Amino acid sequence: MEQTKKAWNRENITVRDSNQYIGGVFVEASSGETFANIDPFTNQKLNSVASGDERDISKAVEAASNAMKNGPWGSMKVEERMVYINRIADLIDEEIEEIAYLEALDTGLPISQTKKMTARAAENFRFYARMVQSVLHGESYPVDNTFINYTVYKSIGVVGLITPWNAPFMLETWKVAPALATGNTVVLKPAELSPLTVDKLAEVIDRADLPEGVFNVVHGYGETAGAALVAHKDVAAISFTGETTTGSTIIKNSADTLKKTSMELGGKSPLIVFEDANFGRALDAAVWGIFSFNGERCTANSRVFLHSSIKDRFIEAMKERVDNLTLGDSMDASTQLGPLISREHMEKVNSYISLAKEEGCEVYQGNVPETLADGNFISPTLLLNAQNHMRVCQEEIFGPVVSIIEFEEEQEVIDAANDVEYGLAGYVWTSDLQRGHRVAQAVDAGMIWVNAQNVRDLRIPFGGMKASGIGREGGHYAMFEFYTEPKAIHIALGDHHIPQFGKKQ
Ligand code: NAD
Repeated sequence: MEQTKKAWNRENITVRDSNQYIGGVFVEASSGETFANIDPFTNQKLNSVASGDERDISKAVEAASNAMKNGPWGSMKVEERMVYINRIADLIDEEIEEIAYLEALDTGLPISQTKKMTARAAENFRFYARMVQSVLHGESYPVDNTFINYTVYKSIGVVGLITPWNAPFMLETWKVAPALATGNTVVLKPAELSPLTVDKLAEVIDRADLPEGVFNVVHGYGETAGAALVAHKDVAAISFTGETTTGSTIIKNSADTLKKTSMELGGKSPLIVFEDANFGRALDAAVWGIFSFNGERCTANSRVFLHSSIKDRFIEAMKERVDNLTLGDSMDASTQLGPLISREHMEKVNSYISLAKEEGCEVYQGNVPETLADGNFISPTLLLNAQNHMRVCQEEIFGPVVSIIEFEEEQEVIDAANDVEYGLAGYVWTSDLQRGHRVAQAVDAGMIWVNAQNVRDLRIPFGGMKASGIGREGGHYAMFEFYTEPKAIHIALGDHHIPQFGKKQ
C-alpha cells in the first residue's frame, strides 16, 4: 500500500538547535556560546546555533585525523566504503521531503525550487560511488624494456569544506560526496546563515553508521571557525564556495600551511540574445535564470545583452513576467520568489537598486505586498538602459535584479561580456550554429550554455575563470584533481645505467 506523504508546513516542521557533530557525537560549542538563526520570512529566531571557534575545529580535525590514520576508513576496501556512500544516498532519499522544507524555511528559497535542488543530493553520492568504482584508477607508462612507470590516486587526508548559504544542502553534498567516496575524512564548516539542513546531513551520516570521526560538522562564523579550519596544519586541503573576496582571504591564510585549495566564487554572468534567437525560449531562460532561487544564484544571468532589433519586444515581455511573478512565503507551493537570506543582504541589494538610478538606469520593479513587510522581500527588478561599465553591471548583486544592455554587433557583445572581473557562466541564444559556437568559444567563462538554461551534467567540470574561481569541481575533476593526489611509481625492469659517481677508476 502506498504511504501518504506528510504535508510539511511551518507549524508541523521540527526545528532543533544546531550543534556540532564531532567524532560521531552531537555536542555544544566548546565556548558554550550560540548565535540566533533568523527566519528570512518573519525575521524571528528560528533556532540557536553552536558558535564554534578554534577549539571546536581542533577537536574536529583531531577526530578526522584519527579516523584517517587509526580508524578503519583509511584502509577500508573500496567496495565496503561504497556501501556506506550508497547508504547515505538511500537515507537522504528517505528524508528528502523534510530536507527540502527545512531548506525553504531556513533560506527563503521557494519550496518548489528547493525540492529540485535537494533532489540532486542523493545522486551526488551515488554518482561518486559509481565513479570511484569504475574510473578512479591510475595509468601505466611502459618505457621500452627498461621501466614500467605507473600512477595511483591516493586520498589526501583531512579535507576542510567551507560552504555558502545560497544552496546549502546541494553544495554541501556536492563536496562531501566526492571527499568521502575517494577515502578522505571531512570537517565541514557550513554557512552561519543556513545551518538547518547540514544538521540533517549529519543525522543521516550518523544513521549510516560511518566510523566515528570520518565526517564532522563545525558550525560557527567564518572569521573564527572558518579561519581556524583554513589555518589548521593537519588539514590537507580546503574546498571553498562563496564570495570572491572571502576566497582571496582563504588563499592568503592557507599559504603558511601550504594547502591545496579549490575556489568556487562569485559571478556576473552574461546572457546574450541575438536577433535570430528562439524568442520565447530565450525569454523563459532569461527570466528563470535570474529570478529563480531568489536571484541568489552564482550562475545567475545578471547581465542580459539584447540585440537592438529585438530589445524593445524582449523588455516588454520581461516586464510582463516580472509583473506576474508570485512573491510569498517560501513554504508555499505557489511562491516563485521568496525572501532574501537576511535583512542585511536585502539592504545590500536595495542599495544597488538605488545605485542603478544614480548611474542612469531606469528601474522597473513591482511592489512588495504590505502583508510581506516582515520578510526580506525585493520584487523582481529590471535595470533598463544599463551600460556595461556601470557598477551595477560589474559587481555581483546576488538578488533578483538584472541589468539589460543593448548591443548591435557580435564582436561588440563579446567584448562587453568579457569586460568584467568575473568569468563563471555564460548563455548564448541564436539560431546560427556557427555563431553559437563562435561566441561560446570567445566568452571568458568556465561554463557556457548555448540555447539552453543552466542544466547541469555531473560529469562536466563545474567552476569559473578569472575572479570566479580556481580549479573545477564535478566528475572527473573533483576526483582526480582535488580529492586525490597522484603518486608516480617507477619500476626498473632491468639493470639500467646508474652513474658510478665517486668510484675509483
Ligand atoms: P561568503 O564568502 O560570505 O561565505 C561563504 C562561507 O565562507 C561561509 O561558510 C562563511 O562562514 C565562510 N567564511 C567567511 N569568511 C571566512 C574566512 N575568513 N575564513 C574561512 N571561512 C570564511 O559567501 P556567502 O555570502 O555565504 O555566499 C554567496 C557567494 O557565494 C556569492 O558570491 C556566490 O556567487 C558564491 N557562490 C559561488 C558558487 C560557485 O560554484 N562558483 C556557488 C554558490 C555560491
